Amino acid sequence: MTGNLRLAVTGGGGRMGRETIAAARDRGHEVTVAVNRTPADPVAGVAVEPADRLSELLTAADPTPDALIDFTGPSSSADYVEACADAGIPAVVGTTGFESGGCERLRAAADAIPVLKAANFARGVQALRRAIREAVAALPRYDVELTETHHNGKQDAPSGTARTLLSDVEAVRDDLDARTYGREGEAPRSASAVGVHARRAGDVTGEHELLIAGNRETLTLTHRAGSRGVFAAGALDAAAWLADREPGWYGFDDVVGGGDGGGEP
Ligand code: NAD
Repeated sequence: MTGNLRLAVTGGGGRMGRETIAAARDRGHEVTVAVNRTPADPVAGVAVEPADRLSELLTAADPTPDALIDFTGPSSSADYVEACADAGIPAVVGTTGFESGGCERLRAAADAIPVLKAANFARGVQALRRAIREAVAALPRYDVELTETHHNGKQDAPSGTARTLLSDVEAVRDDLDARTYGREGEAPRSASAVGVHARRAGDVTGEHELLIAGNRETLTLTHRAGSRGVFAAGALDAAAWLADREPGWYGFDDVVGGGDGGGEP
C-alpha cells in the first residue's frame, strides 16, 4: 500500500513502541490506536491508552487501522494478534522470545488476517541471512559460532535474530545440529556444535557476529544496528507492504526480497 497509513501500535510505552510511533508520525502516518500495559505518557502527540482496551479501540476505530505493529512480549503479542484477527486488521509482529505455543497462536490468526513476523526489521540483517547461507554452505566442516550483544534491558536470550540466523546455518549444514549455549568447565567441542553466546551490556542496540573457522582461516560476518530507528523504519515498511495482502504468514524477506519467502520459524 502506498501513501499514508492509519496504524495501531501496541507496547506504545516501550523502547520500540515509542520509536515506532515517532517514526510513523515523521513519515506522515496517523497512529489512531496506541496502547500499553502500564500507564504511559503520550508519544509524539499520540495518547497511549491502557492495553486492556485494545479490542474495543480496534473495533471502534473509524476508519479501521491499515495495520497493527507489535513490539511487546510473547504472551501479550499472541493476545494482540488474536484481537487483530477478530477486528480484521493485518498484524506486524516484531516481538521475540516466542516458545512454540505462542507462535502457533500467531500462525492460527494468519488464517484470518495477514501476519508478518520478523525477529529483526533491519534490511542489513536480511542481507546477512543470505550471506550466512552462502558462506556456511561454501565451507563444509568449518566450525561455526554465533555471538550476539544487546543492551542490559533485553529479556530473552539468545536474541530472536540469533535464533533466525541459527536456523539459516542449520538449513544449509545439517551436520550442525547441536546448539551449544556458552561453555563452562571441561567442555570439549563436538564437530556438530554451533556455539551460541549472548552478551548483555550497556545500551548496545543489537550486534550479531557469525564466526566460521577452519583450514587455518577465519571468516566473520557482522551486523550492527546503529539505532532503534532502523527497526522502526523496517516495521513501517512491513506495515505498508502487509496492509493489502491476503491472509497468510509472511516474513520481512517477503518485503525486501531476496529471501525464499514463507516467513520465519
Ligand atoms: P521494552 O521492554 O522497552 O518494551 C516492551 C513493551 O511491551 C512495554 O511497553 C511493555 O509494557 C510491553 N509488554 C511486555 N510484556 C508484556 C506483557 N506480558 N503484556 C503486555 N505488555 C507487555 O522492550 P523493547 O526493547 O521495546 O522490545 C520489545 C520486543 O521487541 C522484544 O521482544 C524485543 O526483542 C523485540 N525487538 C524486535 C526488534 C525487531 O526488529 N523485530 C527490534 C528490537 C526489539
